Amino acid sequence: MTLPQLQELCAGLGFPRFTAKQLCDWLYKKRAESIDNMTNLSLAQRARLNEIAFIGRNTPVRCQVSRDGTKKYLFQTTQNTQSHIETVYIPDDDRATLCVSCQVGCKMGCRFCVTGRQGFHGNLSAGDILNQLFSIPEFESLTNVVFMGMGEPMDNLDTILDATTVLTAPWGLGWSPKRITVSTVGIIPGLKRFLDESQCHVAVSLHNAVAAEREQIMPVQRAYPLADVLALLRRYDWSGQRRLSFEYTMFRGLNDDQRHAQLLVDALRGLDCRVNLIRFHESPEAPFSTSMPSTIQSFQNYLNRHGVICTLRASRGQDIDAACGLLAGRGE
Ligand code: SF4
Repeated sequence: MTLPQLQELCAGLGFPRFTAKQLCDWLYKKRAESIDNMTNLSLAQRARLNEIAFIGRNTPVRCQVSRDGTKKYLFQTTQNTQSHIETVYIPDDDRATLCVSCQVGCKMGCRFCVTGRQGFHGNLSAGDILNQLFSIPEFESLTNVVFMGMGEPMDNLDTILDATTVLTAPWGLGWSPKRITVSTVGIIPGLKRFLDESQCHVAVSLHNAVAAEREQIMPVQRAYPLADVLALLRRYDWSGQRRLSFEYTMFRGLNDDQRHAQLLVDALRGLDCRVNLIRFHESPEAPFSTSMPSTIQSFQNYLNRHGVICTLRASRGQDIDAACGLLAGRGE
């Protein structure tokens, strides 16, 4: 809960207004795991809170460790213990990034994504999102959080805004919004609101600049064409601290030749942004293959030569199905 939500809760219970601030301190600064530990609240207040609330800490039910140090955690959600979600911890030299999920499954149906093929089974609460950070042993070492796990953030936007507010507010964790990146396939109403109401970085899943071809792998293109998404993004200033990036997964023979590189450069002309190329991680369930390393290199070189900053995202956690597009949340 955010501070205003806790103030509302306290008002409803007849508690003094400052109790909400005390609750924030316990939840987000001291990260109390039990209401009984909140020792500057009266015994009566703690008893009342215990009747109607719970902290929602929920330790992972499984952890798989990759050869490269990446860890994939499996959590049960608090609302439905049959539902599972996955969270990926990615340590690097001087960084430690956590990739969190925001939904159980996903409605977007991207053809290359294991999560998308599961269908949609529910939204996570802000508590379930924050729990993915708070309940892993590496929490203190995290430098960045990316909302790139299971689900489409703009389809659960109120919750994403609550969770990112807790992470960035002075009464919460007080992180800089520069440590947080939220991804989207480009749901325009949600994206517009997010751009207006948040300062966190934005990553748009692009994957193909040719509308008819993008539609073949990303059904969202029919409702929210990429051209309209780019037109919206052009209305914002990207020259400051806030970063705009585009995710581009490389599929052999589908989106990886020079024509695609050229159309991508044309589409992004004048936008202050960067492109992250991602190797496609083949799975028996998806009828795509990954581009040849030399093709990826040529694509990257073409973009860089034509003024688009382009990096190749290192593949992490592939041996434990923790890489991009492979999260399934299978509890069995
Ligand atoms: Fe959903 Fe992202 Fe998978 Fe698309 S790639 S189906 S938006 S989880």
